Amino acid sequence: MKKYYIKTYGCQMNISDSRKMADILDGAGYEEIRISENQGIRAIRELEQCDIIVVNTCTVRANAENKGLWFAKSLKHHKEKNPNLKIIFCGCIVEDKKNEITKLLPHVDLFIPPNSSEKLEEFLVFSPSIEKRGGNRAERGGGEFVTIMHGCNNFCSYCIVPYVRGREKSRTPEEILEEIRILGNQGIREITLLGQNVNSYKYGFAKLLHMIEKTIEGEIRGLERIRFLTSHPKDMSDDIIDAVADLPHLCEHIHLPIQHGDDEILKAMNRGYTVDDYKRIAEKIRNKIKGVAITTDMIIGFPGETEKHFSNSVGRIREFAFDQVVTTIYSPRSKTAAAKMENQVPEEIKKERLQRIMKVTDAMALEQNKKLVGTTQEILNGRTRTNKIVKSNLKGQPGNVTITSARSYILYGGTTNDTRK
Ligand code: SF4
Repeated sequence: MKKYYIKTYGCQMNISDSRKMADILDGAGYEEIRISENQGIRAIRELEQCDIIVVNTCTVRANAENKGLWFAKSLKHHKEKNPNLKIIFCGCIVEDKKNEITKLLPHVDLFIPPNSSEKLEEFLVFSPSIEKRGGNRAERGGGEFVTIMHGCNNFCSYCIVPYVRGREKSRTPEEILEEIRILGNQGIREITLLGQNVNSYKYGFAKLLHMIEKTIEGEIRGLERIRFLTSHPKDMSDDIIDAVADLPHLCEHIHLPIQHGDDEILKAMNRGYTVDDYKRIAEKIRNKIKGVAITTDMIIGFPGETEKHFSNSVGRIREFAFDQVVTTIYSPRSKTAAAKMENQVPEEIKKERLQRIMKVTDAMALEQNKKLVGTTQEILNGRTRTNKIVKSNLKGQPGNVTITSARSYILYGGTTNDTRK
């Protein structure tokens, strides 16, 4: 059997694109080779077995971009040893560097821009129907992504997504419901709806959530959980919050990126809300959705960020009692407005601030997790409904677990003897 390996960098959208390509390759009769994160490029024997290697890249952060390019360059040596090996390079870098990419990676057989996985089908001269796709989906852990929209119209001043993924395009509710039905019938128990900004879904996001709930209740017995990513605070409406509060399959977790805790910086980021606006939404979420977890993203060292701006970000972590904060050092991305700003923050200051804020986010996450000690949590795919990781004696099976101890990013439960606090 022919074999393939897919290396994915970046966000959930990229993971979703990679899964679509995996479905296409599975449908074409290829077998996936899995390589652990730790092995990576050193998995020479595994890479040598491959007939196709796909590198799905990300350009949102410089670090991920460099890693993706470096991995793809390192495959030249495999291609020289095995000229039949097909190397496919896809994702945001293809769009961002379209004029230079073929020179950078002359050994690559096919370049695929974002949201264009059908090009892989053309390449294989194979067009499986959606019903044929997903043979290995249940094996991949009982959870799947369903993309409801692509692209973004927001042009946050630091973000390259609108340039590389284009403007918002929403799939119709009918298409989405059909994909969910198929996944449900394949035994998938948890689905995450994906979009750069799901709240601005063209046909009404709250309406879509109600339609999904009705479809699950009427037709799909085994599907237990629905999640969604990512929400934009400026588009988070009351009817979406109500839907999460009222619909039993919707999980009590909202990822709501604040990005910064200071109004001046939020304005420079072109985010379209103030800290007070965010506060009102977070309060509504906490008041309406019982037991909800709120997680967020924060950028450290945006151009012009002073110590005072930074300390406002630090203060918001406690003020909003975030369950988790994904902190990222700002890195300038070509084409974006922020890259042209003159008041860039020196790297060593950004790194030092990152260290400081991480101590606060870790402490806050621990405080939130400790509140769950003694409670019983419903576990699926190793996570609570609020998306917290739980280590227990369930060994990957679904079930109920009593939480016995907590660390910042993991809970322990069941009969585990772990007593770490
Ligand atoms: S909302 Fe802003 S940060 Fe998110 S994808 Fe769109 S432009 Fe980028």
